[in-house]
Amino acid sequence: MKKTLLFLLVASFGLQAQGLINGLLHQNHDSSDSAASAQPQCGSHFLMLEQDRRSPGYKAAADKALQEAVEKLPQSNKSLGATLTIPVVFHIVYNDSTENLPDSVIFNQLQSLNDNYARRNADSGNVRAPFRPYVGNPNIQFELATVDPDGNPTTGIVRKSTPITHFGGILPYAQNQTAQIQQWVEDSLFYNFSRISVDSLGGSSPWDIDRYLNIWIGDLRIFEPQLNNFEELVFLGLARPPIGHPNFVGTGTDSLPLGIGALVHYVAIGPNNPVSYPPPYGGFNNITTEGDILTHEVGHFLALRHIWGDGGCTVDDYISDTPLSNNSNQFTCNTNRNSCLDSIGGANLPDMIENFMDYSTDACMNSFTREQSQLMRSTLFTYFPNLFTIGEEESQLASSLSLYPNPSTGQLNLQAGPQFAGAQVQVYSIAGQLVQSLNLGADAQLDFQLEGPQGLYIITVQSASEQQSFKVLKQ
Ligand SMILES: [Zn+2]
Repeated sequence: MKKTLLFLLVASFGLQAQGLINGLLHQNHDSSDSAASAQPQCGSHFLMLEQDRRSPGYKAAADKALQEAVEKLPQSNKSLGATLTIPVVFHIVYNDSTENLPDSVIFNQLQSLNDNYARRNADSGNVRAPFRPYVGNPNIQFELATVDPDGNPTTGIVRKSTPITHFGGILPYAQNQTAQIQQWVEDSLFYNFSRISVDSLGGSSPWDIDRYLNIWIGDLRIFEPQLNNFEELVFLGLARPPIGHPNFVGTGTDSLPLGIGALVHYVAIGPNNPVSYPPPYGGFNNITTEGDILTHEVGHFLALRHIWGDGGCTVDDYISDTPLSNNSNQFTCNTNRNSCLDSIGGANLPDMIENFMDYSTDACMNSFTREQSQLMRSTLFTYFPNLFTIGEEESQLASSLSLYPNPSTGQLNLQAGPQFAGAQVQVYSIAGQLVQSLNLGADAQLDFQLEGPQGLYIITVQSASEQQSFKVLKQ
């Protein structure tokens, strides 16, 4: 009798810790993991599987597009190029005051994101020696938007009160109703999360995805009234990558209204978040300490996959300079782990627990690789040519330089103020190769045909005293 009681207590605590959904997701979708180890994680892979279930062939198309994008990356060891700056809008969708995080947390989060994407993060020096030849600097920066889509000044932080208490939804079933819960996950779970990005569903609709990176913050838990009112945290964050974007090769007809961008559970935003994870998730108070969850999700937004490819040793993330691994690092930071045989530069490297695209503690993750960095930049060039500015580009708006039309079929007109008379004009491919070298005449005007295939180019104009850069898309 005592033994039975003890067993029931243990079983009950186990279920209590997991809730009713996370174990089910693992059983259904993740052969490399077991339901027993189910814990909150990233939802991006599960979102992709759900999109594929709704639109069969979606994942295969996305995999193929990703593989082709990686094959086209420049094989150069040169600098990745100029800083790309992206305007960001944070949508804080809150039901109570604790979810309505103060500006200071958003500022710190943005600082963390910018440090990580410029390889300025204080822990970047902790990457182990075998990985040092492969780590890269994406050289991407994020700025709070200063102008909203209507042209009005903004702080780049939208605060929206919502009647929705749990964006994961309310599960109307008990733990023995497995079939119904399974159906609910398919029908409702990702639709529930989507509500955070739709005004009419209690969320905050995205600003033009071609001009702003949208980041949503809210309570992503699931309320389970028939499990003692348990609030299950399944996903710390998830992201919808440009797959489904009109410019992307792939299908986007999955009927989920989730906006393109990133979602993060409000407790995982930080550093210096005043809110703690309640039991049984207290362990995450020591895991998401530096705001690296958003770095991870923005990596997904820019087309990166998990470093272990969400499968065993035969499944890759399509990136050649990340080692294979048979599973995530499970938030353990085990430096002895080398789960798969691989050969990078002739070496069988250990699992790269330092990678932002693993599941590591924030204290342990500190790097993207060079190829991951190149892929993220290439995603911007390919799918979001109007989302970023290059280098000093913004200052050109105030100067007398103009280039049109842009995008262009190749015929371009460049006009400049008198200080640019006779200036050098150079056209570079995204790979950094010089395509054309021209000269602005004495009247500081130039009509020219951009040589080379369709794609994105960078045009620099160099006068005696200043240099300006433009990007132009040839269609
Ligand atoms: Zn992820």
